[in-house]
Amino acid sequence: MKFQLNPKKEWGFFINPNNFQIGELKGEIPNGYFIILRIRSFEDSIGKTVIRNHYGLVSKDQMNYLSKKQLSSRLSESCAKFILKNNKLPPKVSIEKKPKEKKSIELAFSFSQYDIFHLKITEEMLNGKNPKNTLEHIIESSSRNLYEIEKEKIWKIEYAPNGRSLCKKCKRQIKEREIRLGEPIYSDEHLSFQWNHLNCINLSKLKRSMVTGLDNLEEADKKRIEKKLK
Ligand SMILES: [Zn+2]
Repeated sequence: MKFQLNPKKEWGFFINPNNFQIGELKGEIPNGYFIILRIRSFEDSIGKTVIRNHYGLVSKDQMNYLSKKQLSSRLSESCAKFILKNNKLPPKVSIEKKPKEKKSIELAFSFSQYDIFHLKITEEMLNGKNPKNTLEHIIESSSRNLYEIEKEKIWKIEYAPNGRSLCKKCKRQIKEREIRLGEPIYSDEHLSFQWNHLNCINLSKLKRSMVTGLDNLEEADKKRIEKKLK
């Protein structure tokens, strides 16, 4: 169907269900594509301009309106098809909840900070394959980015046992007995650390639970560092 929007108050996006690609809503949009239409209007009752989202699906050259939940469920099906066909997650889709011992998995499709769809992938959608196993397989075989989401990212803090390490941030030497903070790096299943000076890392971005080794520091050092952590 052909979209002709009023550029002063209407705009939107389409989502191609086959590859999750997103485009501006204008001109001819094929059947089967998902639609997010935003309309700005003045609400008399509250005396404010508001933006409303409308969701839909192009079918038989018409826009069929859907609730956000209905659209999420349609997107879940498309996402499962994509996973089966390509053995990876579609663009802008990430794992929302860690796979646990359950049959469905929640993914998040967020293509902007305002648009987040929660996608539930079930065994039926994956032709009987267990979503947990399927996703784990994908995680293992795909980019490290995704891999890291799955791994608990635990930093390590300690007194440098020697003066041989270099700070990853400033590239200078970390002296023996100086406190160093290691960012975990996984290569395959092997864990190692990239070390940093304490002052070269913004501690307020790290949670206390993300740092191991604090208990092995001297009490004064431990207290001082714990205060700075999130
Ligand atoms: Zn440094």
